[in-house]
Amino acid sequence: TTAAPSNFLRHVIENDLAQGAYSGRKWGGSPGNAAHHAQGMADPAKVRMRFPPEPNGYLHIGHAKSIWLNFELAKEYGGVSHLRFDDTNPEKEDQEYVDSIRDAVKWLGYETYLADRPSAPGTLQPHEYFASNYFDFMYEAAEYLIGAGLAYVDEQTADEVRANRGDFNTPGTDSPFRTRTPEENLARFRAMRDGQVADGAAILRAKIDMASTNINMRDPALYRVRRAHHHNTGDKWCIYPMYTYAHPIEDALEQITHSICTLEFEDQRPFYDWLLDRLAEGGLIASPHPRQYEFARLNVTHVLTSKRKLRQLVEEKYVDGWDDPRMPTIAGLRRRGYTPEALRLFCERSGTTKSGGWIDYASLEAALRDTLDPVAPRAMAVLDPVKLVITNWGELMGGDDALDSCSAPVHPHHPEMGHREFKLGREVWIERTDYEEVQPKGFFRLFPGNKVRLKYGHVIECIGGTKDADGKLVEVQARLVPDTKSGTPGADAIKVKGNITWVAAADAVQAEVRLYERLFAEAQPGSGELLEELNKQSLEVCSAFVEPSLAKAEPGVGIQFERHGYFVLDAKASSIVGKPVFNRAAGMRDSWGK
Ligand code: ATP
Ligand code: MG
Ligand code: MG
Repeated sequence: TTAAPSNFLRHVIENDLAQGAYSGRKWGGSPGNAAHHAQGMADPAKVRMRFPPEPNGYLHIGHAKSIWLNFELAKEYGGVSHLRFDDTNPEKEDQEYVDSIRDAVKWLGYETYLADRPSAPGTLQPHEYFASNYFDFMYEAAEYLIGAGLAYVDEQTADEVRANRGDFNTPGTDSPFRTRTPEENLARFRAMRDGQVADGAAILRAKIDMASTNINMRDPALYRVRRAHHHNTGDKWCIYPMYTYAHPIEDALEQITHSICTLEFEDQRPFYDWLLDRLAEGGLIASPHPRQYEFARLNVTHVLTSKRKLRQLVEEKYVDGWDDPRMPTIAGLRRRGYTPEALRLFCERSGTTKSGGWIDYASLEAALRDTLDPVAPRAMAVLDPVKLVITNWGELMGGDDALDSCSAPVHPHHPEMGHREFKLGREVWIERTDYEEVQPKGFFRLFPGNKVRLKYGHVIECIGGTKDADGKLVEVQARLVPDTKSGTPGADAIKVKGNITWVAAADAVQAEVRLYERLFAEAQPGSGELLEELNKQSLEVCSAFVEPSLAKAEPGVGIQFERHGYFVLDAKASSIVGKPVFNRAAGMRDSWGK
């Protein structure tokens, strides 16, 4: 797959490549420090993208879109994409999240398009980048800005800073600290660094324009004082850079060419350019510097793409962890039975544009079906089993215990995938819904007097059913029609309208099947009370019988259960439940709301 035709970013990149925009990239006046950071960057001319998650939760389908976009563009234009952990916020980050993010990028198939050099010393893995590795450089860049009169230490209270920022209709008011000399600012900034200033008592701000029509340009904060342990730098720092300051620097040091983000950062772009222009003038970074481009974030109906809200569902136990198969996390989708191919196809189909909107959850399922149908092995599974007894079996087959062997193609269009073998005996499990005492209109399966085929087996004629005291069906009886076995001469002499799935009691494997539905009943959740928008029936657990070939099922390999849809073995749940657990990834067709 390649990037979608509707992807406007391809035009931007093609234009830049045609003009050689990045082939003449040079360092400014005093390259020393920055050159150190750019060490070994093999080819500064090539397209260099990045996916910069903050390791404060598991990635979701929206992140998959961003990963897909960056890595597919890198791949298409012969470049690379960095995986950069944007770990500038010490309180919320965790190694568990770093590991899960690394896993997700690899699983989506992009390991080979990661960076073309080992990471800087001190990082945890080769080919991975950590924003926190640039803390020294960010600090030096801040001192440079102070020296150049472009930044100052503001000691107003947080409330004063907020009030003096103004709003859309009102220009901001200069801080009384705005006129400090560079020498004073430098001394105060070093005092912040050296632990002589209380948390929250001072910030470093860029000195731009308090009357700007863009509020983000009204002297944005660059550094704050925060005594917090950092997962990578430990207790070395008690000041931390703000995201808006850190992010452009990270891009510049890694010589990113096209920095793609979602639309909510559009108003930040002027500061991104302001900062990098100033640092390039000072010779701290190379020119031309990276450029930011925004696209509309992906929203998928009936799920949420917000780490914060997903965390709430996990912490309040509405789902069984970040990898619950109903979760729109990459880990959840994977456990549910989604494949990397399906997610990539979905991302491509969802388009990349500047105007947002919601993509229907059904198109996620469609992408799964479209990728699995051509390759998924087939199997029979009975999800709501009731016993069928073939009363004349012993008479015809030479004993009630006799077993017949049946076979079916693993895939109807791929003979090379071989055959599955299973038994047929006097007792088989069939779907409860395949029997009716009185024929409903249009129903051609089992009712007294009707003939149907046991798929891949014989034709049977229904005699009747037995109910228990509560009126619940407990057994169905039928007679086998001789000389009708599938694949034998004359098997089709008797025409039947019904063809039912089954498994023999003799070789069926007991399993648990989990049927999942949309996590949220609300199509566009997130605007109201979250918990009221949840779908209360998003999970149905069935005790099932499946054909013997499924005893060898492997996690990660989607299987089509004939009639029922696409399923996958859940290794994690199986080991807890003590028998195979299969998750339904998607039904045979979209039936939501029908
Ligand atoms: P959340 O709002 O869920 O916390 P985030 O944007 O804060 O997400 P980051 O870890 O900062 O999470 O995101 C990493 C990258 O993924 C960013 O470049 C961000 O723009 C992108 N991204 C996040 N959500 C989406 C989405 N729904 N659609 C497309 N890209 C997204
Ligand atoms: Mg973020
Ligand atoms: Mg966020």
